[in-house]
Amino acid sequence: MAKEEHLGYHPVMLFTITYTGKDPTDLGYLLHKHPGRPQTMELGFGRVQVFYPETGPLRCTAAMLLDIDPPDPGRGGTKSPGIVDYVNDRPYTGSSFMSTAISSVYGTALAGRCAKKQELADTPLDLSAGLFMLPCRGGGRLPKLLFGPLGYEVESEAPVLLDEQFPEWGNSPYLNLTIRGKVRLRDLLNHIYVLIPVFDQQKHYWIAGDEIDKLLNHGKGWLADHPAKALIARRYFKNLWVLTHTALDRLEGRRVDDPSPARTEKNDAGAALEPTNGARPRLNMLRLETVAGVLKKNGAQSVLDLGCGEGNLLRLLLKEKNFTRITGVDVSPSALKHARKRLKLDQLPETEQKRFSLFQGSLTYRDKRFRGYDAAVLAEVIEHLDENRLDTLAALVFGDARPGMVVISTPNVAYNRIYGRSNFRHRDHRFEWNREQFRLWAERIAGRYGYEVSFADIGQVDATQGAPTQMGVFVQGNFPRSGSGVEPPALCPGALLDPAAGSGASQNHSSGALPAVEDVLRELTIRTALHHDLVIDEEDRAAALEIMSRFSADPRWLIYLPPAMSPCRTSSLPEFIEHPQEAFAYYRKAGLDRVVCEEKHGGARAVIVLCRSPETALDRFGAADGPPGIIYTRIGRHFFDPAEAATEQAILERLGKVLDCSGFWEQFATDWVCLDAEILPPPAKIRRLLPEQYAPVGRAGRDGLAAGIALLQQALSIRGPAAVAPAPAEKQRGHPPADMHVAAVLERFEQRKACLDRYTEAYRRCHRTVSSADDYRVAPFHILATEGKVWNHETHLCHLETIRRFMTETDPLFISTGHITVELNDQKALAAAADWWLRLTGFGGEGMIVKPVDFIARRGTELIQPALKCRGQEYLRLIYGPEYTMPENADPLRNRSLAKKRRLALAEFALGMEALERFVRKEPLHRFHECVFALLALENEAVDPRL
Ligand code: SAH
Repeated sequence: MAKEEHLGYHPVMLFTITYTGKDPTDLGYLLHKHPGRPQTMELGFGRVQVFYPETGPLRCTAAMLLDIDPPDPGRGGTKSPGIVDYVNDRPYTGSSFMSTAISSVYGTALAGRCAKKQELADTPLDLSAGLFMLPCRGGGRLPKLLFGPLGYEVESEAPVLLDEQFPEWGNSPYLNLTIRGKVRLRDLLNHIYVLIPVFDQQKHYWIAGDEIDKLLNHGKGWLADHPAKALIARRYFKNLWVLTHTALDRLEGRRVDDPSPARTEKNDAGAALEPTNGARPRLNMLRLETVAGVLKKNGAQSVLDLGCGEGNLLRLLLKEKNFTRITGVDVSPSALKHARKRLKLDQLPETEQKRFSLFQGSLTYRDKRFRGYDAAVLAEVIEHLDENRLDTLAALVFGDARPGMVVISTPNVAYNRIYGRSNFRHRDHRFEWNREQFRLWAERIAGRYGYEVSFADIGQVDATQGAPTQMGVFVQGNFPRSGSGVEPPALCPGALLDPAAGSGASQNHSSGALPAVEDVLRELTIRTALHHDLVIDEEDRAAALEIMSRFSADPRWLIYLPPAMSPCRTSSLPEFIEHPQEAFAYYRKAGLDRVVCEEKHGGARAVIVLCRSPETALDRFGAADGPPGIIYTRIGRHFFDPAEAATEQAILERLGKVLDCSGFWEQFATDWVCLDAEILPPPAKIRRLLPEQYAPVGRAGRDGLAAGIALLQQALSIRGPAAVAPAPAEKQRGHPPADMHVAAVLERFEQRKACLDRYTEAYRRCHRTVSSADDYRVAPFHILATEGKVWNHETHLCHLETIRRFMTETDPLFISTGHITVELNDQKALAAAADWWLRLTGFGGEGMIVKPVDFIARRGTELIQPALKCRGQEYLRLIYGPEYTMPENADPLRNRSLAKKRRLALAEFALGMEALERFVRKEPLHRFHECVFALLALENEAVDPRL
């Protein structure tokens, strides 16, 4: 991966320079680009076109247009790409690439050299620059702040709406900017080179230490005196404070150590680092020192740091000889990796290694390894768990592990005002409490498990808001104990857990016990009734433990997860990537005569578990409080945010009423049901992508391409460009420049613009406002299980018909799923089905799912795909990117490989069915949980998320 790409989102795909003067076409000499010879240069990330849209007697304008290859997030990145990584504004805003293009294509001018007209190059000239589609999130004042002090007149176009159809989404984050001044060309270019990256603050991954040299080099002679230099450095380095401070130190002539590579930092998503000024790192340190002090004062010798993150507290504890046993636990494999590296574990002397250990563990799985410590610490951890999992956490820590003392620190939300922020302090925080909320919770827990709790402030105390961090210290009556401090734990009679139970084997299913970590982290081979034995490898298990612990709902409700679903094979029809005829061909080849095609509503997959009464919920699922049911996503997350809990409850209640009225419970002799459904619109988290991701891409694309088109048209209309002797060819990095065919580039840009318009229609169609359950629609399509029965021996037609009769005829919230049955040997029927699909998708509909008529279908003994999806051509723009139909993008897509996805789809189908069978047979929790866990683990396998 080219390093520039690590810098993420820098601006501008279009940049113009205009020279107003006596012989304006001298600009061609200065830039070493002949006005009569438009050029194309290939760089690592795409093409740069340089051409002149204006060569009049008074003014001459050179344009640099970047034609950036579509993103390939799968290439060489450190994290697996998500689906939205493929639909981003990179091709239209130029990301980091404009600076790179300037140094590659205008390198000589940037250095201030001009063999033919050196004097002109050394003279301040009347120059202006146009910067288009500058991503400037939340920085309306930035242009003046940055360019003003350098002597430019700054003019930015009034902001436009992000999407004129949805004014409530606010303004576009992009702006078009013109700066004018009397400057030397080299200064203008250096200013732009440095300041373009300062505009955008999008996430990024790594910034290497040599970026400091680049900044200082291009900032020579002006940056040190710039009044906003601190802001420039901070934004240039995206808030990575070591780099920022090192750069500032060097700018101001202070000596510093070389920051690379040891001081290169990562802006890690997992841990709550994010220092944006000097205060946060100091608070972090203070917090850890306070915790260490409390441990020492209370005579704790063995300490368990739960949620140790990258090991900051562990490092502090290791320095103290009083601590004879120090253990770090975190659920995140990447946090543990960083901790290992930072603590230099492989270099620890043997004596030290004896008192130290570090392992993956979770605060929502029983773990015998947590027992036998004097103290447990949870520093800034509880707020990373969903609030409704805190009872589980408390049961594990206070009820099961039962250390002599527990120290918990968490932010005091009231203090956020002092920070001037209205949101949480870290994007992974699920809640933040004020002092009262924390005190109430802590006292309740202390009372329940027999601890005394006291509270302390950490950080500067504000008279009304309190301190930034609050700490609770829980102590058991008999602590500190005399002696070594490592004693068998005292068991708490009120604990939710049965600490005597080792592996879940002896657990009573309905007791409400939790799964044990050894049930899922041990070598996991699952015997399924439908498929061969499935072996889950270690890395996937570790990943699943993290997801289950951090994101999933209470495992007692998770009796099933839906399998991945493969698309049909890539269509052989040139105008389609997906088309139903491939799905029909697959099933015909598998020996089937008939399939069912079901409409896909454009919502999101949801599993609904509903009990007839709270007693059944307790009895059958061990769920004591909350509604007698749940709605969760494909990966076992609550479908609705905590803010929409009332909506979830209302939907469950209304479904309960519908089933009461239709006589469903009696008819099928059950007190609970598990349904597979589509809920539309998709959950809030996905809906937010419209204004946050899809609309900005549309705005950047439409306007960026339109600006490019306007300049290309202008260039084309110039006839007989001013005669200027060709400038000497510049030494070029990358490929040598080639002639640019303006008309061909224009045509391409017009096609791209048409793609953007269609993409815009596609995402706009997805928009829905929702305020209550009435704004949702729920379309159940499988009845997965009821008491005593997994419904996988019923045909899909039976499922749909039962759903119609018992669920979708009374309350408009519940809708049926349009479907047709297709005889695979009847050409007319096939053509009619394809027509049906075209009608469904013609206006941007998502598409349809093709299934065998039987729920479980086989070719001989071999399981075949339980479903294949055929997505609509326009809908796919939201998946493969706005321009996926352009030949250069579509051709590589045709080679997409489905084999792995299909393998996973079968394995996951078998696991989902197995989980249901085990639940229906009333096997203990750990028995069905291991299937669900394994399914989630398989989801960790690297598969193109767009399939
Ligand atoms: N205690 C550290 C890190 C705090 S960040 C410090 O003070 O610097 C919170 C940490 O909790 C993260 O490393 C995260 O991976 C971990 N975490 C979140 N949910 C967890 C869970 N369910 N089980 C264990 N660790 C968890």
